[in-house]
Amino acid sequence: MKMEYDIVVIGGGILGLSVAKEIIDKKPEVKLLVLEKENTLASHQTGRNSGVIHSGIYYEPDSKKSEYCIKGGQKIKNYCKKNGIPLKKVGKMIMATGQKDIDVLYFLKKRAEYLGLNHSLLNSAKSKEVEPHAHCIESIFFPDVCITDYAAICQCVKKELEQKGVDVLFSSKVDSVQCDIANSYIQVRGKTYVSKNVINCTGVHADSFLRQDYRKDVRIIPFKGVYWKASAPKISTNLYPVPNLKLPFLGVHFTPTINNEVLIGPNAFLSFDKEGYGNCDFDIKDTYDIFSFSGFWNFFQKNFNACINELKNSSRKSTWKSARLMCPSLAFDAIRYHSSGIRAQAMTKDGKLCDDFVFFSQGNVLNVINAPSPAATSSFEIAKHIVGKIDL
Ligand SMILES: Cc1cc2nc3c(=O)[nH]c(=O)nc-3n(C[C@H](O)[C@H](O)[C@H](O)COP(=O)(O)OP(=O)(O)OC[C@H]3O[C@@H](n4cnc5c(N)ncnc54)[C@H](O)[C@@H]3O)c2cc1C
Repeated sequence: MKMEYDIVVIGGGILGLSVAKEIIDKKPEVKLLVLEKENTLASHQTGRNSGVIHSGIYYEPDSKKSEYCIKGGQKIKNYCKKNGIPLKKVGKMIMATGQKDIDVLYFLKKRAEYLGLNHSLLNSAKSKEVEPHAHCIESIFFPDVCITDYAAICQCVKKELEQKGVDVLFSSKVDSVQCDIANSYIQVRGKTYVSKNVINCTGVHADSFLRQDYRKDVRIIPFKGVYWKASAPKISTNLYPVPNLKLPFLGVHFTPTINNEVLIGPNAFLSFDKEGYGNCDFDIKDTYDIFSFSGFWNFFQKNFNACINELKNSSRKSTWKSARLMCPSLAFDAIRYHSSGIRAQAMTKDGKLCDDFVFFSQGNVLNVINAPSPAATSSFEIAKHIVGKIDL
């Protein structure tokens, strides 16, 4: 049996839903279908992230990340306010814990000025006034940074989509997508959906729909991050270390959650299973996919020391040690394992991690190939950009 649609969106994370919302808001008469392989929304990156609506400070000012994060963050905040979705203004502090961090801190301060982000440079005493448990020699404070629950945003968008006649189907894993000049044929467990356009928002699996020739050049590598829950002290703002600007990860940080918990993490290390959230999960196909990619070996060679350090730093003890630099009153016994998330990070064959968002069309399929953090913050703006590329 064949079912016909104008557009099929694959993936029920924040990006798939944002894209579907943008399409139906722009052209309500479009026949639109969202396919999600799990039996609920936001099961992967979207439901396992830090919940931060990022300010945009970390990204090159002329990048898509910078532009979409700043514009998208405002849209997400407005959407939460309009729809009664949890939203808390907790602020964010980037902390120099030693002299070695000062140059990068001042570099970020200049960038904040350039981007017009609301911020202030605080000395040690002033930083303590904002967060009494914080310990640093200097910090930049961004008072407008909020936290939210991205899974709750997805539920709200789904309700809106269904009210507007969009079909959102669960337990619908797309096995393959074939294209001819006019249409795409989407296979889901023996059923075929026919659609003029397909938008692939499948996160860590997005490269599996690419042609083999392109998969030689780029692949999505899963990087796991573990979160620990701190029972004390009650940190009430986001505390971040000064980042390594060469890597797209932000370093172990403190995040208060919308449920009044305090999380520490996530670290970043290679995962041998794209959906393996347990400690020792291993998937032979995913592991082969990583090790058979020349880019991975180039990356490993270039970043050998950083990889070994990240592995060493993945234990509870080393996370505690990193976190204590920012908050010395944190006791080892106060932290317990909480959860983990897996980032979908595109890597090129020369071993570089793609820094910016990457969208790539093949035939009638538009693939979201690189949308790691801050893609949840940026999702409504990313959707606007993607839908602008489609002839609706
Ligand atoms: C640990 C961690 C912390 C983060 N913190 C933040 C943060 O604080 N702020 C921020 O802005 N960003 C953050 N991010 C990034 C952000 O969460 C992601 O960029 C964003 O959620 C990506 O959304 P997505 O919809 O592309 O992917 P996902 O949420 O992974 O959704 C992809 C969906 O596709 C479905 N799917 C996959 N294959 C198929 C198939 N074959 N058929 C049908 N469905 C399929 C999956 O089941 C899944 O639901 C973080 C990410 C991680 C992992």
